[in-house]
Amino acid sequence: MGGDAAVVRGARICYQSTARTPDADTRLIQRLIQATPKHNTVFEHAVFRFGVKCPLFVARQWMRHRICTFNEKSLRYCIADREYYVPAGRDEGRAAYVAHMEASFDLYEALIAQGWPREQARAVLGLGVYTEFIWTVNAWSLMNWIEKRIDLHAQAEHRAYAEAILDIYCQVMPVTAQAFREAVLSR
Ligand SMILES: Cc1cc2nc3c(=O)[nH]c(=O)nc-3n(C[C@H](O)[C@H](O)[C@H](O)COP(=O)(O)OP(=O)(O)OC[C@H]3O[C@@H](n4cnc5c(N)ncnc54)[C@H](O)[C@@H]3O)c2cc1C
Repeated sequence: MGGDAAVVRGARICYQSTARTPDADTRLIQRLIQATPKHNTVFEHAVFRFGVKCPLFVARQWMRHRICTFNEKSLRYCIADREYYVPAGRDEGRAAYVAHMEASFDLYEALIAQGWPREQARAVLGLGVYTEFIWTVNAWSLMNWIEKRIDLHAQAEHRAYAEAILDIYCQVMPVTAQAFREAVLSR
């Protein structure tokens, strides 16, 4: 919502200026990304809303990011789908991992059938179970998330989401995303 144009509008009201050349807005965004101290609020006018499906352990890390808004599927009210993450390339132990996940779902469903409330029965499910949430975040906070979660120190599974969302960011806000890649991610 807003895109590069929202950043430019936010900045140009500060200076009461207009673009005098075709590439003036691009150069403005590049300067703003590099500015010290940071003129971060101009990037907060562009907003994204994502629908995310990921394992619970990724969601748990994701929700450490506070400058954004989430709503998540509730396993108090909904029945968990029998869907879980299985890491690729782990042949040894894979069968035991899958058997454990299946057994946990068998127990979960049996407890619900016996009348257990969903909110208590869910406790037997593992962190590899998929969850779904809506994430609304402004472009400045999104860049903070991408920078932290695309880093090689971040968990690979979370990094995969950061890489996918960076691709979307590049499509939707090409000028800001390019300036961010050059000024921040290539450091
Ligand atoms: C590789 C990696 C490993 C991690 N390991 C752990 C771990 O082991 N345990 C753990 O608990 N967490 C861990 N984290 C989470 C990390 O500590 C941050 O909570 C998370 O990355 C969110 O970052 P953030 O605070 O910048 O983002 P946001 O919460 O979105 O905040 C954005 C920015 O707003 C400002 N801000 C927000 N809230 C406040 C506030 N209360 N006071 C002052 N400024 C604020 C800060 O400038 C902050 O950078 C890890 C993160 C990464 C990337």
